[in-house]
Amino acid sequence: MSALHERIARWIRPEIRSLSAYHVPEAGGYIKLDAMENPYPWPARMVDAWLEALRAVSLNRYPDPGARRLKGQLRQAMGVPEGVGLLLGNGSDELIQMLALAVAGPGRTVLAPEPTFVMYRLIAQVAGLEYVGVPLAGDFDLDVPAMEAAIARHEPALVFLAYPNNPTGNQFSLQAMERIIAAAPGLVVVDEAYAAFARDSFMAAIARHEHLLVLRTLSKMGLAGLRLGFLAGAEPWLTELDKTRLPYNVNVLTQVSAEFALAHREVLDEQTRRIRADRETLMEALAALEGVQVYPSDANFILFRLPAGRAHEVFEGLKARGVLVKDLSGAGGALADCLRVTVGTAEENNTFLRTLRGLL
Ligand code: PMP
Repeated sequence: MSALHERIARWIRPEIRSLSAYHVPEAGGYIKLDAMENPYPWPARMVDAWLEALRAVSLNRYPDPGARRLKGQLRQAMGVPEGVGLLLGNGSDELIQMLALAVAGPGRTVLAPEPTFVMYRLIAQVAGLEYVGVPLAGDFDLDVPAMEAAIARHEPALVFLAYPNNPTGNQFSLQAMERIIAAAPGLVVVDEAYAAFARDSFMAAIARHEHLLVLRTLSKMGLAGLRLGFLAGAEPWLTELDKTRLPYNVNVLTQVSAEFALAHREVLDEQTRRIRADRETLMEALAALEGVQVYPSDANFILFRLPAGRAHEVFEGLKARGVLVKDLSGAGGALADCLRVTVGTAEENNTFLRTLRGLL
């Protein structure tokens, strides 16, 4: 071992050294259907008006640390109930990190069903927390008895429930969600990253459960590049979590741009409506392919299963022909033979389908 590597081995925590960083593939030149992005740009007139709004920004000043104006707009646009508090993050990822930092300590556990969003595990491990993943049932709904047993055994400080879930795309059943919320001794975070495409929400349920927090993001509504997420919940929780927040975590360009975008909400909503309609078209076309099993989706992506042993080769074939999707088959288990495709423009979806047909 070189002197440098010896020094790294001595000072970097072993649990960090054993992790792999969150991998984001190079996507230049591809039809990008791997990351749940909204494929639509803004109309040119709206882009001009946005640039005009940015002209007035004072880059020499720190941003408003409380982001009061933006919070007011978010409350209105996202139906945050009266009396519920908001905490903003540099993407919802940062809020997951703040939650983990606030509860981390010896013997503390984070629990989530699996498969789910991989950052819950990664952030928990970085924060020095134990992570417990409880397999979903065969239909990708919550396995309530298994979750209840794991909750009783580990008494998790934090339970994450992605609703709809990534990468499976479904909303768990309401009854199962309620039972897990009732069983949890610590915080329950319902992660509604895909709320714009979903059938319902736990936002109103915050009033009924004092330990329930709802996580949202603007990323899937066409603003992934902005990095803005928020956590809604009872103020006393947010007051504690806010202590883990870096003072100016939401920069001034993000604040002004998000305010601008929310003032033009109808453009984002129209794009979202189109994505939801195209999801149904894409789902039907995928389901009609021989040997392809499609899972129901309440999000802007679709999980599908290929004939045994074919997924990785089909992923590479799509990629070689310029279409990037997400290969989940490497994880094995419930996701063996599975790929995940984000709903793109109608033209992108057709190119994906045509290319896929050619590979099957
Ligand atoms: N939660 C879920 C369930 C997700 O799938 C994602 C993005 N893949 C995020 C949170 C993170 O979103 P962001 O950091 O862009 O707000």
